[in-house]
This record gives sequence, C-alpha cells and structure tokens, in this order.
Amino acid sequence: MRVPIACVVGWPIKHSRSPVIHRFWLNELRIVGDYVIKPVEPDKIAGFFKTFASGSFVGCNVTVPFKENAFAAVDSLEPAAKAIGAVNTIWVEDRKLRGDNTDAAGFLANLDQEAPGWDRYGGPAVVLGAGGAARAAVWALVGRGVAPIYLVNRTVARAEALALRFGKGVRPDDWAALPQLLDGARLLVNTTSLGMEGQPALPIDISPLSPHAVVTDLVYVPLETPLLAEARKRGLTTVDGLGMLLHQALPGFERWFGRRPRVTPELRRAVLETMVN
Ligand code: NAP
Repeated sequence: MRVPIACVVGWPIKHSRSPVIHRFWLNELRIVGDYVIKPVEPDKIAGFFKTFASGSFVGCNVTVPFKENAFAAVDSLEPAAKAIGAVNTIWVEDRKLRGDNTDAAGFLANLDQEAPGWDRYGGPAVVLGAGGAARAAVWALVGRGVAPIYLVNRTVARAEALALRFGKGVRPDDWAALPQLLDGARLLVNTTSLGMEGQPALPIDISPLSPHAVVTDLVYVPLETPLLAEARKRGLTTVDGLGMLLHQALPGFERWFGRRPRVTPELRRAVLETMVN
C-alpha cells in the first residue's frame, strides 16, 4: 500500500510550521504517512500544479506567494476558495485537483475556541488590513452575520475593492477614521503584518473599544504582539494568531489522511517549542 505523503508548497518556505503540526497529528493518531516541505521556485509553480495529480503526493498546502496560482490551477473549488479568490489546501480526487481555502474556517474556529460567545452582539467589528488574510477574515465574519465591518487599510483602494466583493455590510475607510470606528466596537482584528517580529507595532490607540471587546491578531510571531499586550492590559479578551494557524491545518489533514484531528494544548506546545529560537 502506498504511504500517503502531503506537502506544503511555497517560496521561500524554510520556516513553515506546517510539518510540525501534521507530523504531530500523524504520530498522535498512529497513521503511517508524512508531511514535507516542498520549495518551488516561482517560475516552476505552474508546472508543479500541472503534474501534481499524477505525482506522488496525496495533497498539499499552499502558502505565500502561490495561493492565487493554486486558485487558477485547480479543477474545482470549494465555496470558501471561490469567494476568497485563493486556495491554500489541495487534494486529489479522481486524478483531478480540488481546492479549498481553510483560513476563514481556521479564523472562526480559533475565535470560537478561545473567546466563546465573541459573536453574541454581531458587531461592529474593525478589520485592519486588506490583503489575502483580510479577505478570508472578512468573508468569515460576513458569513457569521457580523455587521457592520469597518475595513481599514493603508491603501484605501484595496479596502474598497474588498468591500465591493463582500457587500454593503463591509465599509472601507482609512487610518485617520480609526478613533471613531473603534468607538464601541466589539471586535478588532489585525490582519496586517504590523506587530510581526522585525516590523513596527501598529500605531493605534485602542482605548475607544468597548470594554467587552475581543481583540485578535493574525500575526503569531511574537505570540503576544504589542496590540494583544495592550488589549490584555486593558482587561479585554485577546486571541492570538497561532490558534488560526493550527485550526486552518485541520481540514487538509482530514482530506489527506482520513481522520479528523483536534487542536489541543499539547499541539500548541509542540509548535511553540519550535518558535523559541
Ligand atoms: P498581504 O496580502 O501582503 O497583506 C499585508 C497587509 O498589511 C496589507 O493590508 C498591507 O497594507 C498591510 N501593511 C503592510 N505593511 C504595512 C505598514 N507598514 N503600514 C500599514 N499597513 C501595512 O499579507 P497577508 O497574506 O494578508 O498576511 C498578513 C499577515 O497575516 C501576515 O503577518 C501573516 O503572517 C498573517 N497570517 C496569519 C495567518 C494565521 O494562520 N495566523 C494566516 C494568514 C496570514 P497595503 O495594502 O497598504 O500594502
């Protein structure tokens, strides 16, 4: 019997934590299989996807900068991938490539696990950033009925384009409007890369937020970003980005290896151990 092997494809990709997550689950569920890193140079990615279905992998995760190439390359799309316009999970079915985007599900599952009831009031929410991660987060929030969603981005045109895609509950704006938009907001989501190791902190004052607000950051290196540290100091509920990374991995594992794993404190610890150096 063929040993199932999945991979993560990206460029550059040396620091991906995905092998740690999937190997932890393979080991925990006693499944004979593997998950490896597959660096592919940008000019070779089209060829990689073209021959993927006849190759040796049962599927793959797709990371930066290939999520849109994957969207164009697969034979069929799950609804989330279609709506978000990007694919991060591929599996082979009847020698055809099927593509999904699990970032939105991972984003919601993380909030549900770490801040149960976060969507009780339905909004308002403020989302910072309008890149690929924001597309997934906004689609997820719209699907949960959160409104209004104020979408704030340095390049306002990008926020406007994203708002057009997701309907009138999503309202694009610029950084200057933040003090008013944050006033009484129930949820604040950072999807920009600000706050990440080596990047400046987010230059915002979160004091206008509702005292019952939940603050989540998609950045997970460091685990507690300056935004989350400030929110915690103010007594707000905080949710870090590592949980999203773990939850978004789950649907791919289930497709490739046939068992549904769980996101547990033990998994979190195993991944955190790889982040200390
Ligand atoms: P992306 O498509 O490149 O978008 C980056 C976003 O950050 C854009 O909105 C960009 O604004 C903004 N930005 C960058 N530098 C800025 C600055 N100096 N000032 C203001 N805004 C700035 O990246 P992405 O794929 O969306 O990823 C964004 C972050 O989410 C990354 O840190 C990534 O690691 C994280 N992420 C985490 C998970 C998870 O599972 N936890 C999943 C996906 C992504 P402009 O449009 O104006 O350039």
